[in-house]
Amino acid sequence: MTHGDDMNETKVRQLIEKKECVLIINTKDLSSSTVWNELRLIAHKSTPTIPLIGWAACSYCSRPFRSHSAADVNGKRKNDGVTSALKHLDQCSLRKKEMAVKRKRQLDDENGDNPDQSQWSSSSSPTVNKTLSKFLYNKSTLPKTWQNRIKESECMNSFRSVENDGLLELAQTCIDVGATFGRVNAHDIWYGRRSIQNECELKFHQHREDIKSIIQPYINDRTASSTIDLWRDDIIQRYYLDFTIFYLNEHWHLKHSILRCKYFDEQSKTAINIWFSIIL
Ligand SMILES: [Zn+2]
Repeated sequence: MTHGDDMNETKVRQLIEKKECVLIINTKDLSSSTVWNELRLIAHKSTPTIPLIGWAACSYCSRPFRSHSAADVNGKRKNDGVTSALKHLDQCSLRKKEMAVKRKRQLDDENGDNPDQSQWSSSSSPTVNKTLSKFLYNKSTLPKTWQNRIKESECMNSFRSVENDGLLELAQTCIDVGATFGRVNAHDIWYGRRSIQNECELKFHQHREDIKSIIQPYINDRTASSTIDLWRDDIIQRYYLDFTIFYLNEHWHLKHSILRCKYFDEQSKTAINIWFSIIL
């Protein structure tokens, strides 16, 4: 594991550039006036909730600073404060750029203009917009243009899907990612169809192994039985064959679990075809 005391500024900067380390918001000090609105803590990507002791970084350009010295022989640290970080913020060119964009956006909002899309998609420095964190509590405090952008995004989905618990949970996870790591591009964190399919298959195989170990004693005791069922997808007229196992636990509760569900492409649903489909 990476330890903050073993490293110098160059090393920490390299780790951030290689994305081995991530920037996280200092949630312990987030009053509106604090300098921590513009600074971040640094954590190793494998332990993103545990900050490296003694380090902080500019939220605009990710430049790292020591906030405390390395521990001495007695384990004591000298508090270097955030003076050098403050000096840097005053000079940081990315911060100046970001401030200019923010000012323009505020003016656009006040004038009721549409926000310039290209500014958002090309902006690579993660920042946390104060308006965004207000949204966590009440969307009615968002400027009109942002309320409309959210409504338009929701309109791209079927009416029911925008009230789907799974989708809301996904949205909440994305907001949590933003609130923890600052603004990120959705394309950088979205996994997509292929990864999710692989993840589902992996979960299925893990789950099946768990079920197998649960039912093994009941099979040994001969208190398990099985059945098959044929399902038809009415839209594309396909058949699926599932294999379900039933067993009684020590409290005489009847339990069941599907061990397999496979596409059944035989034209004839005879017993012999089903039998071959099960054993293959
Ligand atoms: Zn900077």
